[in-house]
Amino acid sequence: MFFEKFRMDGQVAVVTGGGRGIGLACCEALAEAGAKIVIIDREDAIAEAGREALAKNGHDADAHVLDVTDSAAVGRIADAIVEAHGRVDTLVANAGIARTGFAAEDTPDEVWLSVNDVNYNGVFWCCRAFGRHMLRAGRGAIVNIGSMSGYIVNRPQMQSYYNASKAAVHHLTASLAAEWADRGVRVNAVAPTYIETEMTRTVVDKAMMDIWIRDTPMGRMGQPHEIASVVHFLASDASSLITGATVKADAGFTCW
Ligand code: NDP
Repeated sequence: MFFEKFRMDGQVAVVTGGGRGIGLACCEALAEAGAKIVIIDREDAIAEAGREALAKNGHDADAHVLDVTDSAAVGRIADAIVEAHGRVDTLVANAGIARTGFAAEDTPDEVWLSVNDVNYNGVFWCCRAFGRHMLRAGRGAIVNIGSMSGYIVNRPQMQSYYNASKAAVHHLTASLAAEWADRGVRVNAVAPTYIETEMTRTVVDKAMMDIWIRDTPMGRMGQPHEIASVVHFLASDASSLITGATVKADAGFTCW
């Protein structure tokens, strides 16, 4: 009975940036829980790779190419998914980008705008579009992927634009949760520490990574599945009393 609450059989879960990294791990976790997975990613090859990875584990998934910064396209995809599947129960708004190395005073407009466009605007467009369908159904769970960078400033790394975009996601999460709490739609977020993915492999140099790991109380980075299990909890009825929360999965980084 208790563990039944973690099951998501017959449900439909949409994961943005679901083709790789944390997003793909979320797809795998939610698929194992029984949900039908819809992957959204910006590039066809990545979305397809995610679909194939799920298929190897016996999970049938749909894959759509979409740039989450295109609000009109996000609306169209949300409508099409609900049309095709008859419902949407979970949105994991995970798609995000990172850029490093620009001091605040030297940050080009393009860096500020592109990071915030994906990490913040994109999350809102997705919450709004899928949230409308969930509100109509009177049921749904949204999990946004924030970051511990939304809480702390890791001084050696210059990325005010990224930190601000993630803090905005945490506050947006609480705002939407408050608006939708009495209409059956829960909205939560997860704030990960550094996770071993393409993002950290390509954006961060080794010297910086060594500093981070030294400063992490658990003394290590996280793995995508360690975020996916939190997302699964927040997406399932096991967390039925939780809304507006940002759960830190940060290996203790923000404890001190
Ligand atoms: P990855 O770069 O490995 O995966 C992100 C995926 O999202 C990519 O497939 C990427 O495609 C896609 N994506 C990016 N922009 C868009 C867009 N506009 N529309 C649709 N898809 C898009 O990143 P992670 O898995 O590491 O990160 C996932 C989330 O977790 C992000 O929001 C990130 O900020 C957050 N996070 C990550 C941490 C980490 O240490 N890895 C720590 C804390 C938070 P493309 O290659 O085309 O950009």
